[in-house]
Amino acid sequence: IWQINDPLSQISQLSSQVQSAFAAMGRIFNLMDEEEEVQNGKVEIRPDKVRGEVTFDHVVFGYDDETLMRDVNFQAKPGKMVAIVGPTGAGKTTLMNLLLRFYDVKGGAIKIDGIDIRDMNREELRQLFSLVLQDTWLFKGSIYDNIHYGRLTARKDEVISAAKMANVHHFIKTLTGGYNFEINEESSNISQGEKQLLTIARAILKDPRIIILDEATSSVDTRLEKMLQDAMHKVMDGRTSFVIAHRLSTVRNADLILVVDHGDIVEQGTHEELLAKKGVYEKLYHSGTSLANHQPVC
Ligand code: ADP
Repeated sequence: IWQINDPLSQISQLSSQVQSAFAAMGRIFNLMDEEEEVQNGKVEIRPDKVRGEVTFDHVVFGYDDETLMRDVNFQAKPGKMVAIVGPTGAGKTTLMNLLLRFYDVKGGAIKIDGIDIRDMNREELRQLFSLVLQDTWLFKGSIYDNIHYGRLTARKDEVISAAKMANVHHFIKTLTGGYNFEINEESSNISQGEKQLLTIARAILKDPRIIILDEATSSVDTRLEKMLQDAMHKVMDGRTSFVIAHRLSTVRNADLILVVDHGDIVEQGTHEELLAKKGVYEKLYHSGTSLANHQPVC
């Protein structure tokens, strides 16, 4: 039997994730249209029982009549980290759009623990995920409320411990009012790096089975960068994670690297395997450019 602590909060969190995903992807979606297109399945899932194995099985997809993905195949093992690299427009975001079922595949199937995601309820499916995106979604309100939003049933000590894990507790303590510090409407009164740490704290509190992380490209100072990397590792630990990766260090650590180009996965494997192939990845690696958008690595 499907158990859920607080359906309303989870649904509202979902909508916030959808909003942040939309904002981050910078695209205009017509949600209403999609609601009609995408049908819900009947298979019940228990988040606590989900191992988080993700399979793309001969996936075919295009936003319109044009085919973007012809035959995408990969498997992410439970708890492992998958880095997605490739130039802008290659289809990295689209892979995640499909996994979250913003769109349905046109051929093949996407499965979680062997269950076709079309057989699941879409809201239940999305409850398995947390998104940590570049354009993080914070709302006007206290720091505490912004983290607590990850799981509205969480106790205060759980919120604080999530903040500690995300390396943001000490920063919060330096603010006037600490956890009661009010983030303004544009969330312009805290820095980009700190926003990301808060979003990671929120994700840690949610304790999702699968995490999607769009690694920051904006340059932050070295100390904050280290804190971000460390917080990222903690939130990914023990969870299947997908990182749209910009940093070589991240990619090198991945259990599986997917090299995406023109909608297809042109190479996949570990860093060593792909270097040995002397193909696209090896060229990218030696070109000294960012792996995700061909901009100089900061
Ligand atoms: P990446 O994340 O690697 O930069 P995307 O997955 O965003 O690439 O885009 C892959 C291709 O699909 C691009 O050509 C992009 O213009 C197109 N695309 C992305 N989103 C949409 C959309 N909502 N409608 C139509 N085309 C889209």
